[in-house]
Amino acid sequence: MIEEVAKNIYRVGVPLPGNPLKELNSYLIRGEDSDLLIDTGFRRPACREALEAGLAQLGSDPRRRDVLATHLHSDHSGMADLFVGPGRHIYMGRVDMEFLDQFLHSGVDRRTLRFVSEGFPPELAQAVNETNPARKEAVPAVTPAFRGLEDGEVLQVGEYRLQTLLVPGHTPGNCMFWLEEQGIMFSGDHILFDITPNITEWATLDDALGDYLDSLERVRDYPVKRTLPGHRATGDYRGRIDHLLVHHRERLAEAMTVVEANPGLTAYEIAGKMTWKIRSDSWETFPMVQKWFAVGECLSHLDYLRKRDKVRREQKDGLWRYEAV
Ligand SMILES: [Zn+2]
Repeated sequence: MIEEVAKNIYRVGVPLPGNPLKELNSYLIRGEDSDLLIDTGFRRPACREALEAGLAQLGSDPRRRDVLATHLHSDHSGMADLFVGPGRHIYMGRVDMEFLDQFLHSGVDRRTLRFVSEGFPPELAQAVNETNPARKEAVPAVTPAFRGLEDGEVLQVGEYRLQTLLVPGHTPGNCMFWLEEQGIMFSGDHILFDITPNITEWATLDDALGDYLDSLERVRDYPVKRTLPGHRATGDYRGRIDHLLVHHRERLAEAMTVVEANPGLTAYEIAGKMTWKIRSDSWETFPMVQKWFAVGECLSHLDYLRKRDKVRREQKDGLWRYEAV
């Protein structure tokens, strides 16, 4: 599935089988002497075949291709090394690049340790990790081809000038890319339209949700004519940002209400009392991987409330338990 979204910019749909995101939007920008491929899909055969076929159909020469990953998540960066040309570059925000490098070198999964201390059942955490694409379908290493981008840094591809905007929150070094002259914004997963970007907790951010909301405010007033998101459909840029800001205020209020009504619960139990879009009869039968995302989402909201002295947590028998301040 290929669509020309602007002159010399193409969207290639990369299927993500079995994943609620359904599809990744990979974009190819064609220049005179180089092509830039933005985001790649998971490192798995179905993604690879779809992207290879799309790029072949576009006649993209792999030898003159650079790759840009909007952020470290493996559905975006997982095949970067397979699609970059020899001697060419893989661009990623420097903060995410360093985080990814550390993550790929560390044996213990810090996030799992935190989730277990927040009440996530250890055996369930282990089962989730066995299927976790974060490691299994990731790029194997941050190689010398990688180039870390700083906020404001510009990439030139053909007639297009892509300005890097560092928008932490969804990941620590998540970036959007702004084409001022054309009013085009590559929004990655910072702004999605028919799904809400997942905001979880991160080792290097003590307030990921606060950072995310600040990042939304920061880019809200750009005169965007067309947003090219990392997944699914596009839509009204500013309207969507306003909707996401309201959405998280409501989720914060909901988390606060649950903590006030049930002092002493773990984050795992608090997540079980919040409302989720997933159809499930109960928290017990909630699909395991979705439970993982729900608890991460809940933690980013609890961290936000904790940072602002609305809730506090105390460790009892090895588990963190929350109450209102
Ligand atoms: Zn992502």
